[in-house]
Amino acid sequence: MFNNVIILRYGELYLKGKNQSYFENALKDNIRAKLEGIDCKIYFGRGRYAIKEYGEFDEKEILDRMKQVFGLHSMSVARRCGYELDEIVALALEMTPSSGSFRVSSHRSNKKYPLDSMQLNRYVGEKILESKPNLTVDLHSPDYVINIDIREGGDVYLYDSVIPCAGGMPYGTAGNGLLLLSGGIDSPVAGYMMGKRGMSITALHFHSYPYTSEAAKDKAVELARILKRYCPTIKLKAISLTKIQERIHEKCKPNYMITLVRRFMMKIAQRIAVSESCGCIINGESLGQVASQTIESITVTNAVVDMPVLRPLIGFDKDEIIAIAQKIGTFEKSIEPFEDCCTVFLPDYPLIKPTLDKVVEQESFIDDAEQLVEQAIENIETIEL
Ligand code: ATP
Ligand code: MG
Repeated sequence: MFNNVIILRYGELYLKGKNQSYFENALKDNIRAKLEGIDCKIYFGRGRYAIKEYGEFDEKEILDRMKQVFGLHSMSVARRCGYELDEIVALALEMTPSSGSFRVSSHRSNKKYPLDSMQLNRYVGEKILESKPNLTVDLHSPDYVINIDIREGGDVYLYDSVIPCAGGMPYGTAGNGLLLLSGGIDSPVAGYMMGKRGMSITALHFHSYPYTSEAAKDKAVELARILKRYCPTIKLKAISLTKIQERIHEKCKPNYMITLVRRFMMKIAQRIAVSESCGCIINGESLGQVASQTIESITVTNAVVDMPVLRPLIGFDKDEIIAIAQKIGTFEKSIEPFEDCCTVFLPDYPLIKPTLDKVVEQESFIDDAEQLVEQAIENIETIEL
C-alpha cells in the first residue's frame, strides 16, 4: 500500500511569540489553498505539518507546490509504519542502501515510547549492520542518514532526505506593497523577495504603446503570472506613459529623459499605491547597475515620493539576481526580447549624476504635468491574471 507522508517544517515563525498563531493561521490557509484540487489530507500539528493520504502520482506535484509556499522551511517524504520495533527495522532495511556509511537519527515526540532516541538509534543500527554487512556506521559525515520520527498517536515516520523550501514569512502577513514591474530580470525578483517576507504584492507596469509593442506588455503579464505561484493574491495594473514621454521629449533636454520619466513613474506609483492601500513602493534597482541607479539618480527620483521605497536588490550583483530569477522561474521569460518604456526616446548619454535643482528646472518646462499624470491614472487598466 502506498502510504507516504510529506512532512512540512516551518522556520522563522518560531520567533514570533504571542503572534505566532496569526502567522501560523496564514501559513495553514496558504498551504490549504495551494493544495486545492489534489485529493489528500492535511494534518496541522504543533511545530510540524504533514500531508497524508494522497495518490502516488500526486507526490511530485505536491512537493512542487509546497516549494512555492513562503514560510515553509523544508520538507521530507517519509514512509509510515507502526510502533513495533520489527516493523521499524523492516522499513529501515528497505530504505538503506547495501554499501557505504550510514547513521540512524531518531526523534521522539511521543516520550512514552519504551526506547529513548539513543537506544533506538543503536538497536536499529545494529539490525541494519547484521543484515547488510557491507555498510559501516559513520556518526559525523555518513553517506546516508535514516531519520526515525516517533509521533504521538501511533505513527512512525522514516525519511532520508530534507528538501529545502522557499523559507521567509507566510504570504499576506506583512502589509501591501506596490511593485514596479517591468519586463526585465530584476523587478520580478524584487517582487518575489518582498512576497517572501510576507508582503502582499500589487504590480504596476508602465508601457509606451504604440512605441512599445503589445508583446512588451504581455511579457509583464506573464511575469506577474509566474509571481502568482508564490504571491497568490497578486494583482496587475498597467498605465501608459506615452503622452508624458512625448511631452518630455518635446520640452526638455534629451539627456534628462530617463531621470524625468522615472520621476513621473514614481509620482504616479505613489498615487496608485495610496488608492490600492499599499504602504510602500518596491522596485528592482541595484546600486550602480545602470545610469539611473546611481545614488544621485536614486536621490532625485526618490524626492517625488514620501512613502518608503523598498529596493530589495540594492546590494545584489547581477549574477546573484539572475540565480534567483532562474530558481523562481522568471528568467527565461525576462530574457525574451522586448522594449521597455525607458528605452523610448533614449538619449545617447543619459545623466549619471543628476542634481535635483537642474532636474526640477527641466520639469518646470512641462506646464501641464499634473494633467498628464491625472490622465495617465484615469486610463489605468486592470489585467486579469
Ligand atoms: P528591470 O530588470 O527590473 O527592468 P533594470 O535593471 O532594467 O530593471 P531600470 O530599467 O533602470 O533597471 O529599472 C529600474 C526599476 O524601475 C525596475 O527594476 C522596475 O522596478 C522599475 N521599472 C522600470 N521600467 C518599468 C516599467 N516599464 N514598468 C514598471 N516599472 C518599471
Ligand atoms: Mg528595465
